[in-house]
Order: sequence, then structure tokens, then C-alpha cells
Amino acid sequence: MTARIIDGKAIAQEVRAEWKVRADALKVRGITPGLAVIIVGEDPASKVYVANKVKACAELGLHSEHIVLPADTAESVLLAKITELNHDPKIHGILVQLPVPRHIDSSKVLNAISPDKDVDGFHPENVGALVTGNMRFAPCTPFGAMKLLEKSGVTIEGKHAVIVGRSNIVGKPMALMLLQANATVTVCTSKTVDLAKFTRDADILVVATGRPKMITGDMIKPGAAVIDVGINRLPDGKLCGDVDFDSAKGVAGWITPVPGGVGPMTITMLVANTVQAAERGAK
Ligand code: NDP
Repeated sequence: MTARIIDGKAIAQEVRAEWKVRADALKVRGITPGLAVIIVGEDPASKVYVANKVKACAELGLHSEHIVLPADTAESVLLAKITELNHDPKIHGILVQLPVPRHIDSSKVLNAISPDKDVDGFHPENVGALVTGNMRFAPCTPFGAMKLLEKSGVTIEGKHAVIVGRSNIVGKPMALMLLQANATVTVCTSKTVDLAKFTRDADILVVATGRPKMITGDMIKPGAAVIDVGINRLPDGKLCGDVDFDSAKGVAGWITPVPGGVGPMTITMLVANTVQAAERGAK
């Protein structure tokens, strides 16, 4: 079997076009969805992510504000900026690029963002909404992974979904979203004994560990849908996922490449969440 490659770039374009229609409908009513992205410090990777987020907003005709604060910004100054944005009617979504410098408590920062503008979905109120099945803002990366499954025609209901990784930004929300979509869900971690026993039983396998190529073809059930969230830089400068694409593609039914799989979806879903926030505010 040769897996169908899930083209994240193409699906991201399709999803962006759908959300552009909704953004345009708001504009007709005089509302331009607005996103504020705050970055504290000069982390090069973060700067690239933020630039891409601002670019995606521009592509859809959204208003965006890119706020750059110096690395030594006091926590109180950052919190005051968030409060100001919480009250700014031009801004419907607020995102603080993580990680923040060590002297700033990231949980205080996430809690300070109004739950109505929390387009990353990390505020405890929105996490609680996801847990109780009343999702308001889905964290962008797992939301994007769910869209890839949906757009690829992968059946979720009744299937066994195995997630490798339990981070708050990927693994845990992914598990909750798959559970909400009526999958039977198993979450594996670094402490799981005999990982392959679980991954080989997965109809849907989502891998988010940050361990390059750790899932090999022999760990995958024939025909499974494999979503590789990992982005790792190899010593030769190339990017790879947490799945060994070459051995996995001969076994899986569907597979996301890295790059070009989940990556393009994350920013797309951020834009979607911003438009959704503006729609809610317009009601
Ligand atoms: P974290 O480091 O926060 O979490 C990694 C998780 O993987 C942990 O739960 C850890 O288990 C688990 N893990 C690590 N090693 C193993 C192992 N050998 N077997 C089983 N489980 C293991 O990472 P993130 O969730 O933030 O990110 C994961 C990957 O996804 C990274 O490569 C990151 O770059 C990428 N990523 C991609 C995004 C995108 O837009 N495409 C967005 C966000 C992340 P334990 O809890 O026991 O330590």
C-alpha cells in the first residue's frame, strides 16, 4: 500500500478561502476582524512564526497589529498591554507568542487574555469548554489536524485514535477533539510501556513528541491515517517530522508530510478563530 499524501498546503488554501468568505461578510457590515500578536524578545523562530501570522491575516484582508516588546519587558507592562487590547474594539483576537522570557509567568499571561479574544484557546475557561464538549476556541494545531482528517475523508467516529504526546498545546486538546468526534482515544507518553503495541492498533495515529522519525513503518497499522505534528531540524538543516515518512508511507493509508502537512494548517486555524471571534462579537 502507498499512502495518500495529505497536502496541508492545498487544504490550508481551501480552508482559508472558506474563512475569507466569512471575513468578507463581516466587512460588508463594517467589521474588520482584527488580530494582535505580541512578541516579547528576539527569539528568531518566534519572529518567523509571528511574521507568518501577520502575513496570513493580510492575505485574508484582516486587520493585524504586531506588537514587539523588548526581552526585558516587565511582566506588569505586558499584562497592562493585554488589558488595553482586551478593551480595544478593533481587536477580536489576542495572541502572545510563546515562549515568553523566563522572568514572565506564562500562565498569568494566558489568564490575562479575555476568554472572548483567546484565539489560541489556552485560557483555562476555553480549556474547560473543550473538556466539557462545548468548544469555543480550539487550539490551532490540533484544530488544523482535525480539519486535515475531515477534508481527507477519514472516518473518525468509532475508530481507535492513538495520540503520542500529551502537551497542553497539542496532545491533550487533540485527544479531547477526537473524543468529541466519537473516536476511542488512547494517549501515550514518554512513560508508556511498549509504545508500538498501542500505535499498531491505531486507525488514526497522531504524533506530537518532538522526537525526529521515532515512529517507523513497523509501528503503524496498515491503512491507518497518520498525522505527524512534529517539526524537527536535522543536522543537515532539513526539516523532518516525528514519523519516519519513508518507511511509514508504504504502510499507512493516509499520511501528512513534514513540511507541508500540519504546519500550514496551524496559522490557517488562527485566522479562522479570529474571524469566529469577530462573528461572535458582532451578534
Ligand atoms: P512537548 O515537548 O511539549 O511534548 C512532547 C510530548 O511527547 C510529551 O508529552 C512527552 O511525554 C511525549 N514524548 C516524548 N518522547 C516520547 C517518547 N519516546 N514516547 C512517547 N511519548 C514521548 O512538545 P509539543 O507538543 O509542544 O510539540 C511536539 C512536536 O510538535 C514538536 O516537534 C513541535 O515542534 C511540533 N509542533 C508543531 C506545530 C505545528 O504547527 N505543526 C505546533 C506545535 C508543536 P511526557 O509528557 O511523558 O514527557
